[in-house]
Amino acid sequence: MIAENLHSITRKLPSGVTLVAVSKFHPVSALQEAYDAGQRDFGENRPQELAAKVPLLPADIRWHFIGHLQTNKLKMVLPYVSLVQSVDSLHLLEAIRAWAVSNNRLIDILLELHLGAEETKHGFTEDEIISICHSERSEESMIRIRGLMGMATNTEDVRVIEEDFIRIEKLFKRIQAMGLRDFDQLSIGMSGDWPLAVKHGATMVRIGTDIFGPREY
Ligand SMILES: *Cc1c(COP(=O)(O)O)cnc(C)c1O
Repeated sequence: MIAENLHSITRKLPSGVTLVAVSKFHPVSALQEAYDAGQRDFGENRPQELAAKVPLLPADIRWHFIGHLQTNKLKMVLPYVSLVQSVDSLHLLEAIRAWAVSNNRLIDILLELHLGAEETKHGFTEDEIISICHSERSEESMIRIRGLMGMATNTEDVRVIEEDFIRIEKLFKRIQAMGLRDFDQLSIGMSGDWPLAVKHGATMVRIGTDIFGPREY
C-alpha cells in the first residue's frame, strides 16, 4: 500500500519537486517500507520521536524537522536533520545559530511564514521574514536560509488555500530577487492541497496521510 501510494504521488509530481514523506506517529516499519520503495526524505514533528527513529533506520535518509521546536530540544534534532523547515521565531533562529557555531556545523533552515487564519499557528509575518533575510547575508553565517515553509488555512475552500499559496509564493520570489544565496526552497502543500501548491511554485511538498494513511493519536 505505502509503495503504491508513493508511486502514485511521485508519478504526478514534476521533476525537481522533493517529496517529503511525513511519517510522524507512524511506526518504524512503515518508514522502512517507504524507504524500500525508494523514499529518502522523511518529515517528523516531535524531537523525541525523531531521535528514537533515526538510529533504527538507514543512514542515508534525509530527515526534515517540520514541527514547533523548543530551544531546549535542539540537541535531539540538529545532529540528525538535513533541514529544519519550521523556524518560527527569532529566539529559535538565534538558538540554532549558537548551536551551529559551537558544534561547527552548517545548518540549513526554512523560515515559516504564518499563513492561514488559525491563531494557534506558528510563524513569522512577511515583514519579519524580509528583515531577517536582509540581515542574513554574511558569508560566514553558520545558518543557511534555504527558503520558506507554510501551511495553508485548514479549510475545504480551495480559493482560500490558493490565496495563501499565492501570498507565500510572492514573498518567496521577492526574497529571491534580493539575491539571497542558496534561497531556493518553497515548502508548501500537504495531502489535501499539494497539486495546488505545485501550481504555485512548491519545490517541496510534505505529505503524510496520502502515503501512510490516517495517524492514530
Ligand atoms: C502533519 C504535517 C504535514 C502532513 O500532513 P498530511 O495532511 O498528513 O499530509 C505537513 N506539514 C506539517 C507541518 C505537518 O505537521
